[in-house]
Amino acid sequence: MKRVLPGATIGVLGGGQLGRMLALKGREMGYRFVTLDPTPDSPCGQVSDRQVTAAYADERAARELASLADVITYEFENVNAGVAAVLERESYVPQGSELLRTTQHRLREKRAIEAAGVRVAPYRAIESTADLREAIQEFGLPCVLKTATGGYDGKGQFVIRRAEQAAEAFTALGGGAVELVLEQFVDFERELSVIAARGLDGEVRTFPPAWNVHVNSILHTSTAADGLIPDDVAGRARRMAADIANSLNVVGLIAVEMFLKADGTLFVNELAPRPHNSGHYTMDACSVSQFELHLRAVCGLPLPEPRLLTPVVMVNLLGEHIEPTLRWLEGEGERSLPEGVTAKVHLYGKAEAKRGRKMGHINLLTDDPAKALQWIETCGIWT
Ligand code: AMP
Repeated sequence: MKRVLPGATIGVLGGGQLGRMLALKGREMGYRFVTLDPTPDSPCGQVSDRQVTAAYADERAARELASLADVITYEFENVNAGVAAVLERESYVPQGSELLRTTQHRLREKRAIEAAGVRVAPYRAIESTADLREAIQEFGLPCVLKTATGGYDGKGQFVIRRAEQAAEAFTALGGGAVELVLEQFVDFERELSVIAARGLDGEVRTFPPAWNVHVNSILHTSTAADGLIPDDVAGRARRMAADIANSLNVVGLIAVEMFLKADGTLFVNELAPRPHNSGHYTMDACSVSQFELHLRAVCGLPLPEPRLLTPVVMVNLLGEHIEPTLRWLEGEGERSLPEGVTAKVHLYGKAEAKRGRKMGHINLLTDDPAKALQWIETCGIWT
């Protein structure tokens, strides 16, 4: 098993916040960093030794990154196949490119999840409006039509509530020109996610499930606490994530998003082969964070078992929340929190606070997540 020891340089493809938090943890561990991103002074570039500033699809830039790094990892999944091939040929990419190929495409991803023996919501590949009408008949309404590639934070999706919307949904998502997939709508009670880390030697660790709440299809809060989710459900969710990590031969992290129905059934919604927003709670609330386990996995170091040290609520800071957050920090700030709640504020160093853009997050550590959730509702930053 190849070990990449501290002192070595880790190349990160993608200079966003996930790369930044990876590099901040890795620097603490003694690694050096180089990142590739088209935006100068990117969030990850700011905390790396060096940034190669170029488009993600620029093979010459990928080659430069490869020449500067002992090991390469990625912080987003839409890595161009040509670039992945260059990196694999000219550098060391323990995560490989097969996992990227699988998770870049919803149909391939669903088939891979099923091959791991895990359930997904009923789905069908859609190539025409006739296919779509037939599938709607079969699944009933509502249904969700999604593009097979390129969607995130609810983009590339159309919820079909009435049969007459079929043609409109097909056209709106570019049907005919792009591949589509129809999913049955899951009447879920909660959305959960489990992050699994798998080492080069096949050893798997999973984090406790997070309960995720989305607002406008963007993650708003993730809560983790013992007893929040019944033990048998949490155990099943963790085993599902481990089975997927093993079956897909993951090295590094895989985030598994799931729907929990009232009867206890779990369906996997989608996967992300990288650190995940719903795992940011692990930075302050766990014995080891998702970023550290990812680094340890790709560097061939042993993986400690993560333990939840305290209940936690993670809340995202989007562009529109930055002004009120800064006002809160310069005013009452943490002093205004309910008793027993500690706030850990993480900001990503992004210059422009655009609406809906992920700018940072706060981990609220507390014995009583309900208190933290109540504060989020009423403190004025998120309303
Ligand atoms: P996705 O981009 O697939 O993660 O979907 C974004 C959000 O849309 C999910 O977090 C769910 O809240 C909702 N959603 C997606 N697919 C379904 C489905 N099949 N049934 C119910 N809700 C869904």
